[in-house]
Amino acid sequence: MRKNIIAGNWKMHFSSEETKKFLNELVPKVSDAKCEVVVCPPFTSLQVASDILKNSNIKLGAQNIHFEEKGAFTGEISADMLKSFNVSYVIVGHSERRSYFNETDEDINKKIFTCLKNDFVPIFCVGETLEEREAGKMKSVLESQIKNAFLGVSKEDVKKIVVAYEPVWAIGTGKTATSEDANNVIGFIRNVVENIYDKEVSENIVILYGGSVKPNTIKEQMSMENIDGALVGGASIVVSDFESIVKF
Ligand code: PEP
Repeated sequence: MRKNIIAGNWKMHFSSEETKKFLNELVPKVSDAKCEVVVCPPFTSLQVASDILKNSNIKLGAQNIHFEEKGAFTGEISADMLKSFNVSYVIVGHSERRSYFNETDEDINKKIFTCLKNDFVPIFCVGETLEEREAGKMKSVLESQIKNAFLGVSKEDVKKIVVAYEPVWAIGTGKTATSEDANNVIGFIRNVVENIYDKEVSENIVILYGGSVKPNTIKEQMSMENIDGALVGGASIVVSDFESIVKF
């Protein structure tokens, strides 16, 4: 039985004061959630979030990690730094990091190893652009993102990874993929995983859908066989929306 996870990616939103206000409102509202609830605030809010969430059912996630342990990497954050905030999840390879910050599959592979070594669950994002989809390249793009990111990852370790299928054209655009489409593409991702590892891995790996998930889309999305949860951007910073999504 695969775990259901609803994770919120706050992106570059909320000061520590705003984080405090938001989480103090959210915590009691989702205390009876039936799924794993994760919030990924910006680094500057991790301390306040960690303090508020320590006695709650909400897990803390980070939006990025650097693969080196320490050193001259201005603006980056290390695994040890994240550990001090009791971070459990780390988003890796988000399309905004790939496109605006030139993150490569090789960087993503190293970040996955860093997460696994430090007991963080990577939320590993894959997805095609509209141009790639229209050119009939969706499957080859997804396959190469997955193969490159999983290079050298053992069968035991790969089961700890959470994959998020996030078609780039659906992120922040209000254009969500239809539930059937997302379900089929995630089915394809399971096939790719089966070809690299085996059926047992492909049937057990947790795969989320992300891309304009809203309170009115989640129920149908969660009824799909291959979809185990959602990575939520815009709707994760509105308490009532995130609460409804968590309670799909
Ligand atoms: C995201 O950034 O991961 C995301 C899915 O954003 P949104 O829900 O706003 O499309």
